[in-house]
Amino acid sequence: MTTTTAPRAGAAAPAISHYQKSVAEYWNREKNPVNLRLGDVDGFYHHHYGVGDVDWSVLDAPQKSRDERIIAELHRLESAQADLLADHLGAVNPDDRLLDSGCGRGGGSLVAHKRFNCHVDGISISETQVAFATTQAKKHGVDDKVRFHLKNMLDTGFDTGSFRTIWNNESTMYVDLPSLFAEYARLLTRGGRYVTITGCYNDTYGLPSREVSTINAHYICDIHPRSAYFREMANNRLVPISVVDLTAATIPYWELRAQSSLCTGIEDAFLTAYKNGSFQYLLIAADRI
Ligand code: SAH
Repeated sequence: MTTTTAPRAGAAAPAISHYQKSVAEYWNREKNPVNLRLGDVDGFYHHHYGVGDVDWSVLDAPQKSRDERIIAELHRLESAQADLLADHLGAVNPDDRLLDSGCGRGGGSLVAHKRFNCHVDGISISETQVAFATTQAKKHGVDDKVRFHLKNMLDTGFDTGSFRTIWNNESTMYVDLPSLFAEYARLLTRGGRYVTITGCYNDTYGLPSREVSTINAHYICDIHPRSAYFREMANNRLVPISVVDLTAATIPYWELRAQSSLCTGIEDAFLTAYKNGSFQYLLIAADRI
C-alpha cells in the first residue's frame, strides 16, 4: 500500500492581512483638516462624527472668523458624541483598566481618563496614529495612565479578563464581528461593559444601499447590517442594556460639515443614506455576562 501526503496548504496567513494593511496605510497617510483642525481647538483629536443641535449662526459669521467658528462648532458636536459614549461606560473607578479599540489619534482615551481618572489602553492598526496619540498623552500629562499600542483589535495579545470596559467608536466596520466579539468576551471581566457607536445598514431594506456602498469604498471599510451586531453580541456573552438610535441627532452635524470648507466629498452619501433610512447611527451598550 502506498500512502500519499496531502499537498501542504499555502503560505500561513500573514499576521496582518492584505486588507488590514490597506486600512493601516489609509490611516498612516490620513491628514484631513476635518480631523486635525478640529482637534487643534483643545488638543482632543477625534475621528468620529458629531451629535446634537447646531448653532447655525456660525454660517453668518464675518468672512475672516467664519471658518474658525464652523470648526469650533463641528468640534463641539464631535466632543458631545465622545461625552455621550463616556456616559454609557458605566461606573468606572480610578483602578479600572479600559480599552479604546480602534483609538485613532487618541481623543476618546483622553476623554475617558479625564472623566474617570482610570487606566486606558488605546489600540490602532496605524503606527502614525499610535505615535501621535502617545505624544498627546504626554502633552496632557497623563502618559502614566493612558498608553497607546500598535495592535490588531481582533488579536490583541492582552491578558484574559484584563479589562473592565471596552469601546469602539466608529471602528467596528473595519473588522469581522464574530472574531471581534469573541476577543472581547475573552478580554472583559464578568459584568464588564462594552459600548459601540457605529454606522450600520438597515437590513429592513435588504442589502446595503448605493450610498452605503459609496461610504464603504471611500473609507475602505465594510459597514455591517444592524442585525449582525445583536446576533454576534448574543453569540459572545454580550447582552445589550441600551440601544440608542442617533441617526436624527447626527444629521445636523453632516449638514453643517457639508457647508464648511472642511467637507471631504462624502457628506452627500451620509446625508442621503441617513435620510432615506438605509443607514443608521447607533449606540449599543452591553454587559459581559
Ligand atoms: N475611535 C477613534 C477613531 C475612529 S477611526 C475616534 O473616535 O476618534 C477608525 C480607527 O480604527 C482607526 O484608528 C484605525 O486605525 C482603527 N482600526 C481599523 N482596523 C483596526 C484593527 N484591525 N485593529 C486596530 N485598529 C483598527
